[in-house]
Amino acid sequence: MFNLILFGPPGSGKGTQASLLVKKHNFLHISTGDMFREELSRNTPLGQEARSYMDKGHLVPDEVTIAMLRKRVEQHPDVTGIIFDGFPRTDPQAADLNDLMREKGARINALILLDVDADTIVQRIIGRAATSGRADDLKEDIIRTRFDNFVNYTTPVFDFYHELGVAHRVDGRRSIAEVAEDIDAIVGPAVEN
Ligand code: AMP
Repeated sequence: MFNLILFGPPGSGKGTQASLLVKKHNFLHISTGDMFREELSRNTPLGQEARSYMDKGHLVPDEVTIAMLRKRVEQHPDVTGIIFDGFPRTDPQAADLNDLMREKGARINALILLDVDADTIVQRIIGRAATSGRADDLKEDIIRTRFDNFVNYTTPVFDFYHELGVAHRVDGRRSIAEVAEDIDAIVGPAVEN
């Protein structure tokens, strides 16, 4: 199995790059943000619980997020690889993902940080709000809260994978194709091994 974490603030291009990787390698793509939005649109109890956090740009509690993620991974036992998009975002999520991978006899092979600064993020997200239909894309203060959450909670997660020797940083401010090329240079040789 090849398991990759696409890592970066909201609007850094994780979803876009994940779909390019899925086309190329046929990996399973798991976006916890998309899963929460799906629950929300179906108005499930989980969606209702997540809404209060998402609307403010806060993180959904770890227990809820981890349980949802585990279930999705366990629904697809035979995949050749998984792209985790928007997960893990906290230390407990990273620890649990490690356990989950170990249970499957696998590991996280790489984490790629798409590095983009706050001002670029705000511009991009406000730009996409017209088409994304996301309530949390509309207000600059909520976008900045989401960015700050990323910096505060997520930096230790990067360090955790850095210590494992699997963390990479890519300049995410460039074009989709340029970023994809850097990602391919990391993923391609690792998948072949
Ligand atoms: P995203 O689409 O990844 O920006 O996620 C949208 C929102 O879903 C976030 O602002 C959080 O409220 C929630 N969310 C998504 N993934 C996670 C996660 N791994 N941990 C906690 N909350 C999450």
